[in-house]
Amino acid sequence: MGTKRGRVFSGARPTGRQHLGNYLGAIQNYVALQKDYDCVYCIVDLHALTTMETTRELRDNTREMALDWLAAGIRPDETIMFVQSNVPEVTELHTILSMVTPLGKLTDLPTFKEKVRQQPDNINYGLVGYPVLMAADIVLYKSDFVPVGIDQAPHIEFTREVVRSFNYRYGTDVLIEPAMKSTEIPKVLGTDGQQKMSKSLNNHIELAASEAETVERVMSMVTDPQRKRRSDPGDPDVCNVFSMHKVFSAPQQVDQVNTECRRAGIGCVECKQMFARNLNAHLTPFRARRAELARRPEHVWEVLHDGAERARLIARETMRQVHEAVGLP
Ligand code: SF4
Repeated sequence: MGTKRGRVFSGARPTGRQHLGNYLGAIQNYVALQKDYDCVYCIVDLHALTTMETTRELRDNTREMALDWLAAGIRPDETIMFVQSNVPEVTELHTILSMVTPLGKLTDLPTFKEKVRQQPDNINYGLVGYPVLMAADIVLYKSDFVPVGIDQAPHIEFTREVVRSFNYRYGTDVLIEPAMKSTEIPKVLGTDGQQKMSKSLNNHIELAASEAETVERVMSMVTDPQRKRRSDPGDPDVCNVFSMHKVFSAPQQVDQVNTECRRAGIGCVECKQMFARNLNAHLTPFRARRAELARRPEHVWEVLHDGAERARLIARETMRQVHEAVGLP
C-alpha cells in the first residue's frame, strides 16, 4: 500500500447480496475513493453478531457481499478488503479502549437506545460496547478518514473522544484521531416509495438479480400516488421511479419523463419499462464480472484472507505500540 492522500477505513455488515441502496449509498463511493486514498474495507461480522439470532447464513452472506464489492470495482491488489474477525487484534484493542470509555456515555447514545427499543429481548453486552468496537476498527488501522454521511458524524466524534482519552491517559500519541470524510449519501427509497431500501423490508432491487427479476421488481414500484389513471397528469418530483431515472437514465430521457409525465404523455408502465431497461443495461457489465468471479468460489476467500494478512501487518504494529504505551508487560 503506497500512501496516497491518506488512509480511509469503512466497515459494513455482511448482509449478503447488495441492493441499489447499498450501491448508491456506499459501494460506488468505496470504488471512487480508491483513486486517491489507501482504502481499508472491512466486512464487520463481529458487529453483526450483536443483532443476529442465527449465524447460519453468515458465511454465505459474507461471500455474496464480497462478490458484489469485487464485481463493482473494489481492487483487492490495492485496497485491503477483509473480514473483521480474521484480524483478532481488533478485539484486544476493543478491550483496552473500553477501559477509557465511561459506561454512561455508551448507554446514553441514541443508537444504543434505538437498539434497546428494537430488540428488548436481546440487550446484550456487545450492543453496549458496539461503538467501542467500531472505534477499535478505525484506529487499529491508523485510519485518517472515515467516509460517512452527516447523520453518522456522532460516531466519528465518539471515536475521536476515545482516542483522546486513551492518548491522554497513557501520555502518548500512538492512536490517530480520524477525520470524517463527509459524503453525500443519498437516501435511496425502496420499491414501496416510502421507506429506505432494505432487505428486511423486502423493498429492494438486488444488483445481482436477473434481468427478468429486475423488471419484475421495477414494475412493482410505487409511483405518484395521486396519479390513479393513465390520463391523470403525474408529478415526477414525488415519484421514486423518477428519482431512479435521474441516476440511471440518459439526460434526454430524464427530461422526456419529466415533461411527459406532467401532461400525461407517458404512462407509468411505459416509464417503468424504460427505467428497467436502463437499469439492466447499467448493471450488465457488473453482472458479467460477478458471474465470472462466482465461477471460482475459492477466489473470493483468497482475496479476503490475503486482505486479512495485510490488515494484520498494520494491526500488529499498532498493538505493539499500544502495549508499549499502556505498559503491558
Ligand atoms: S410516469 Fe414515471 S415519473 Fe410519472 S408518475 Fe409514472 S412512474 Fe412516476
